[in-house]
Amino acid sequence: MQVRTRFAPSPTGFLHIGGARTALFSWAYAKRHQGQFILRIEDTDVARSTPEAVQAILDGMEWLGLDYDEGPFYQMQRMAQYKTIIQQMLADGSAYLCYCSKEELDALREQQMQQGVKPRYDGRWRPEDGKDLPVPPQGVPPVVRFKNPSTGVVAWDDLVKGRIEIANAELDDLIIARADGTPTYNFCVVVDDWEMQISHVIRGDDHVNNTPRQINMLKALGANIPQYAHLSMILGDDGQKLSKRHGAVSVMQYDEEGYLPEAVLNYLARLGWSHGDEEVFDMQQFCQWFDLDHITASAAQFNTEKLNWLNAHYIKTCPQEKLITETIKRLKAKGVFAEATSQLSDAIALYRERANNLNQLAQDIAFFFVAPVANNMDVEKHITPEALPIMSAFVTKVSKIDWSVEAIHMAMNDIVTEHQVKFPKLAMPLRVMLTGGAQSPSIDQVMFILGREVALQRINAYLS
Ligand code: GLU
Repeated sequence: MQVRTRFAPSPTGFLHIGGARTALFSWAYAKRHQGQFILRIEDTDVARSTPEAVQAILDGMEWLGLDYDEGPFYQMQRMAQYKTIIQQMLADGSAYLCYCSKEELDALREQQMQQGVKPRYDGRWRPEDGKDLPVPPQGVPPVVRFKNPSTGVVAWDDLVKGRIEIANAELDDLIIARADGTPTYNFCVVVDDWEMQISHVIRGDDHVNNTPRQINMLKALGANIPQYAHLSMILGDDGQKLSKRHGAVSVMQYDEEGYLPEAVLNYLARLGWSHGDEEVFDMQQFCQWFDLDHITASAAQFNTEKLNWLNAHYIKTCPQEKLITETIKRLKAKGVFAEATSQLSDAIALYRERANNLNQLAQDIAFFFVAPVANNMDVEKHITPEALPIMSAFVTKVSKIDWSVEAIHMAMNDIVTEHQVKFPKLAMPLRVMLTGGAQSPSIDQVMFILGREVALQRINAYLS
């Protein structure tokens, strides 16, 4: 059997973390089985769907590198197809017209509530052998209802949750087309999963309740029933339902906040799925390992610390070229203009080991390109009256050396020996003067990358 999976977001908001994980699992499952992955935009809720949300989904998929073999298909462009199938179902008796007005349905519901029974459609327009149907009222446009089997059970072996069985008596006859002729959500999903020949439906478990109805409709259409895997939800760090309050929830916000897509993907892959103790793996490896047997049925909990740890790992292993592009972009966002020079590349090489975030990396190296505003406490602590003559002597010395890390280092050694002070008495004020703060990698390396002219300007600014 050809594996065909799909991701079917409703464009009513950005691509959030839960959606991205669903997309990732569907994508990986198709890749693992040399199948196809399809993107389908479920935009039939016209009141809530927006072009911006469609774009946000496409951008999020692209940022994550989740490429699709078919699509994007838009349900709004498939209306004629849904309507044709509704007509076929009316003709073959698997669907029927229902003329109940809203008032009648409200009254029915009211009555059922009073009797303490579950509100449901009572089948008054449902054709049955030997049953006399009411006469259609004048001027009332009917809805179309699916004729759900009234007996037996509908069951499936969920690839995450195990066997699920629902008695048909629990399900009433679903409206598949509204009075204005537009098809409803569950029906569109059914037609699409059928026509797109989806073999595995991997989706959030908020859709578990739709599945029995969808299976019954697929059966009525004579379609193959796909396998279903319903993923449990993702909870925040605090065990509560994931929401804005937990920080970034949109995938693109992770980009804005300095995460590499590789880190987010690796992180999402482990959110509710495992392969032994493996924590760090790329998507190629993931696609070789991924299966539906190792998805946890319980809710997965978000762990920001782990995501940050993975981000640090991927920054360390990221190709230098990519880090250069990312850093230029992020410096620019801070109003710092840097070009892809060897100076920028050297600065990144020096700082990347310390960074667990791309924005932090940009922040850390911004001082190479704009004079830093020094931290007052560091200035007071390190740029003391005793430090000034030492710095002065150092300026004189480094004005004449060959410009290399080794020569700068030797000059520093010479000065501390001459002034009979410990190394930090020179290194610390130098750090503050050059970088604006008391923390940096080897200051001789920093100074070398900064260049003689700028370095001396920054030191002299404190000496004059
Ligand atoms: N459009 C649905 C959603 O965004 C998903 C439907 C499905 O996967 O069957 O929640």
